[in-house]
Amino acid sequence: MHYVFDPPPQPSIPVAGSSRHFPVHRIYCVGRNYAAHVREMGGNPDRELPFFFLKPASALVAPGCAAAYPPGTTNLHHEVELVVAIGRPAAAISTAQALEVVWGYAVGNDLTRRDLQLAARDKGRPWDFGKSFDESAPTSELHPSNSIGHPSKGAIWLKVNGIERQRSDLEQMIWTVPEIISELSKFYHLVPGDLIFTGTPEGVGPLQVEDRIEAGIERLDTLSHGIRQPT
Ligand code: MN
Repeated sequence: MHYVFDPPPQPSIPVAGSSRHFPVHRIYCVGRNYAAHVREMGGNPDRELPFFFLKPASALVAPGCAAAYPPGTTNLHHEVELVVAIGRPAAAISTAQALEVVWGYAVGNDLTRRDLQLAARDKGRPWDFGKSFDESAPTSELHPSNSIGHPSKGAIWLKVNGIERQRSDLEQMIWTVPEIISELSKFYHLVPGDLIFTGTPEGVGPLQVEDRIEAGIERLDTLSHGIRQPT
């Protein structure tokens, strides 16, 4: 194959305790998956089901690296989330079988241009400009499910400059991980390399240049990253 220029690098995330990397294909994200976050965004969790949107795999930021403050916003928000990594193909899979296709789990920050997201929401327009931008997905090392199992409860939290902003428990998710995989696989043929960000709990808020973010999930490690000057 002769390309007209070198193809872009393969996005990937490092595997904890290993020199190997997990190559990333697509990044799916769940919106409105914790009731208290639905309420803080002005919604009603009794009337709205979670839903999906996507980010490009090129949005990944490696553990420990800083994400650039993105253009076009004055209200960049953090959203700590459990990230599911898919290791086997899945199409229209049942909830009973869904965990069999999970390779591992990570901690992610679904960085959001909140001002652009809310403007799009209010006009019934797509969320891409609010969610799908360069360096919008800082992600921790990946922990294989064959070593940590499948976390369905446990603390999820995020601190900015040492001050806690978000704290909840994975058991507060409206759709569980098996339900998310089953539902998504009705609409897409999931393949090895796909990631799913499973939604954020309450406490989302703004970030500034030079902020230090730490985010963790029980049984996984801590994601640490900075926000740097725009390039
Ligand atoms: Mn999110």
